[in-house]
Amino acid sequence: MEIREMLLTNKRAAPGVRITPKGLVIHWTANEGKGADATANRQYFNRPTTQASAHYIVDDTQIVRCIPEDEMAYHVGARTYTPKAVAVLGSYPNNATLGIEMCVNADGDFRKTYRRTVELAADVLKRHGWGVDRLWRHYDITGKNCPAFFVSDEKARQYLGMSAAQAWAKFKDDVQKTVVTEHPHLEQKPVGTVFIEINGKRLSVQGCLRSGVSWLPVRAVAEAVCGKVEWCAATKQVKVNGQDLTETIDNGTAYAPARELAAVLGLEIEWCGQTKTVKLSKGGE
Ligand SMILES: [Zn+2]
Repeated sequence: MEIREMLLTNKRAAPGVRITPKGLVIHWTANEGKGADATANRQYFNRPTTQASAHYIVDDTQIVRCIPEDEMAYHVGARTYTPKAVAVLGSYPNNATLGIEMCVNADGDFRKTYRRTVELAADVLKRHGWGVDRLWRHYDITGKNCPAFFVSDEKARQYLGMSAAQAWAKFKDDVQKTVVTEHPHLEQKPVGTVFIEINGKRLSVQGCLRSGVSWLPVRAVAEAVCGKVEWCAATKQVKVNGQDLTETIDNGTAYAPARELAAVLGLEIEWCGQTKTVKLSKGGE
């Protein structure tokens, strides 16, 4: 994959603060004007008055790197963040995430931009050893309508011919398939059993370990702590306490990444590598 280095020199947008990223956030530029491609967006970021940035900008012909992956970009700052973002990423998610801007310029080919973004995201996941549970929409962190084609049904139909929930699920699926195709050793096969403890009591059901991520059976864990589980047959999406989860269905049972499930259930999570046990507990107990 070819990435064009066009690092920002504008210190307001690229402050040079070291970060340890924990996730990858997908954005759109929201600029459908002709010529609003990766180079133009990079020039915008580099204007001395601009205080916004992202690590990468993708259009239909290239990937531009604006900020190195171990430095902070200003792409998800807000007054308030979603509870899930705070639980997983901390109180200032710019400190803990990488950002990709997808261009939507009218004179570009969006399908190519989409495909290029899938490949870049797969590359980032591979290099950091992450699963697709590390992918976020800007919307998931702040509630902003970004990227609109993964948030609003109207834009999703216009850009991708499906609902927003389906489009986002498909994007993650496409990234996962790319990781598996190009990096077969990272295929997310269950590679081990994970035991589950809630407030010190072991559950009779077990989770599994895939690519270093613990996946837990959603319903069994949620119901053990009186969480509300909803299943939407049309989109094949599971919601817990009204929030969407990354899930995988295995033999009719929905599994979700342990950290994500713990966050929506408001549980503290601890991993004991020696006993291969995910320990969940209500905060403060
Ligand atoms: Zn955004």
